[in-house]
Amino acid sequence: MRWSRYYIPTLKEDPADAEVISHKLLVRAGMIRKLTSGIYTYLPLGLRSLQKISQIIREEMERFGAIEILMPGVQPAELWQESGRWNAYGKELLRFKDRHNRDYCLGPTHEEVITDLVRGEIKSYRQLPLNLYQIQMKFRDEIRPRFGLMRGREFLMKDGYSFDKDEEGAVRSYQNMYKAYQSIFKRLGLNYRAVEADTGQIGGNFSHEFMVLADTGEDTIVVCEQCDYAVNVEKAEVKVGSFSGERACPALKKVITPARHTVKEVAEYLNVDETKIVKTLLYNVDGRGVAVLIRGDRELNEIKLKNKLRAGEVRLASKAEVEQWSGPVGFSGPVGLKLEEIYADLELANDTDYVVGANEKDCHFMHCDLTRDTKISAFYDLRNITETDPCPKCGGKIKLTKGIEVGHIFKLGTKYSEAMQAFFLDEQGRERPLVMGCYGIGVSRVLAACIEQNHDQYGIIFPLPIAPFECLLIALNVKDSEVRSRSEVLYEQLKSQGVDVLFDDRDERPGFKFKDADLIGVPFQVIVGAKTLAKGKVEIKIRKTGEKLEVPFEQCRTIIQELKNKIN
Ligand code: ATP
Ligand code: MG
Repeated sequence: MRWSRYYIPTLKEDPADAEVISHKLLVRAGMIRKLTSGIYTYLPLGLRSLQKISQIIREEMERFGAIEILMPGVQPAELWQESGRWNAYGKELLRFKDRHNRDYCLGPTHEEVITDLVRGEIKSYRQLPLNLYQIQMKFRDEIRPRFGLMRGREFLMKDGYSFDKDEEGAVRSYQNMYKAYQSIFKRLGLNYRAVEADTGQIGGNFSHEFMVLADTGEDTIVVCEQCDYAVNVEKAEVKVGSFSGERACPALKKVITPARHTVKEVAEYLNVDETKIVKTLLYNVDGRGVAVLIRGDRELNEIKLKNKLRAGEVRLASKAEVEQWSGPVGFSGPVGLKLEEIYADLELANDTDYVVGANEKDCHFMHCDLTRDTKISAFYDLRNITETDPCPKCGGKIKLTKGIEVGHIFKLGTKYSEAMQAFFLDEQGRERPLVMGCYGIGVSRVLAACIEQNHDQYGIIFPLPIAPFECLLIALNVKDSEVRSRSEVLYEQLKSQGVDVLFDDRDERPGFKFKDADLIGVPFQVIVGAKTLAKGKVEIKIRKTGEKLEVPFEQCRTIIQELKNKIN
């Protein structure tokens, strides 16, 4: 490809709305352009990278027995009504009507469509197992589309679905896809980790997320330094020892805490440790009020709360709700609260003599013993794990890291097949529901995550497998006929030996071309200039290390090949 006739609109300035580096660099490197919030056009370089990622995914999916199809983006409401998700899915589902007033949605995922597809076709156990996948644009009306391709509204996803005749087969399919995902992310050249993910109320160890490790990740993952424990913080269980010793606690006493709001302020004012303060958080859980108690220095884990209460929707109470259930905002406490349900984090059971809010402005209670003075419904593990907690599996030391979720595999069971009556006949001629699994990869998010992990102050540093081109051939002064003709020769040679090469044949200053070269992050640069040519040489620059080699013109193509092979 010749740059002069290609379309790579690079920019000097960062786009005003970009917060994260991948968003800035994707726009500046001329890979994407925003159409509207969370919706992007992929320019030639962006598209090439997406195609390379997709190709690796395809090869590995097929190697592990999955078969590619392509399903529609527009889906009829009837299927979603059948599965029960037309109401359950919420506002991320973009719904609309056609000219006949029929309801449709733009597909955020394809469980309904695929279940509808196979229920017409799979009649016997002999047709199983079956694993179908597609690479297709999804639409989710995200509440906060941001970070460019990281959280878009329209984005490219690989979604796959497996169908088995029984539990055992479904577990095998799941493990098979787990292996496929490991190969995919390894081949893509990403530093990633597979972690156990939250499975909602279903439970079990049959959901894994594949996380690209990067500081800008929206997920926190917990990894043990001693054993193989690796889970999403949403799921990490906190192990607390059991209480031993005397419970000595003076009588409850109301104290004035003028204008002290935060845990820190109250602790300082009353001269107690922050671990002695109990925060009372009020939640609206499926429409009813619930209080949650947690130690002052801890964070509540809403996913754990949701799972423990088997709730659909969990949200912090509004100001009006707080005033109705407790009193002025900022002083809620478990003593005399107008709520039936009060849950406390397990850790709180291990101590006494706490400070709690008094449901009155500027007031707290000191010397609160939770069992003596309040009506706790239950103690549950409700908080986020921290680095000072032991590994729940081996007791070893854990570490928290940030990750970007690029893939998610999930064992579905018979949720969709039962709801949508996707049955087959087993060996005994009995009718049974298909046992399903689903497997997603955010293809466009992979591109963003890759850049979050691989960049410097000059631009992107693409790993070879995701790079839009493998090699950038830069002719320094295209008006110099020797430079021009030798560059043309190299261009043809590299192409003919299968190197994916972009030829910067533009009539521009060298400094300008070097800047663009580093910005778009192609792994190898071959620089053809008059001075080096006079010595019969050309320069090769490796983008990742900045290393420069002067090599004889004749050997350039073999050296590029060797560099390529070394990485692959
Ligand atoms: P998230 O928690 O990030 O919203 P999710 O759990 O909703 O993700 P899945 O339904 O499992 O995601 O979708 C499969 C994959 O699609 C995810 O692992 C992620 O890589 C990608 N993905 C999901 N939502 C988006 C989005 N808004 N923009 C880009 N990629 C996305
Ligand atoms: Mg989501």
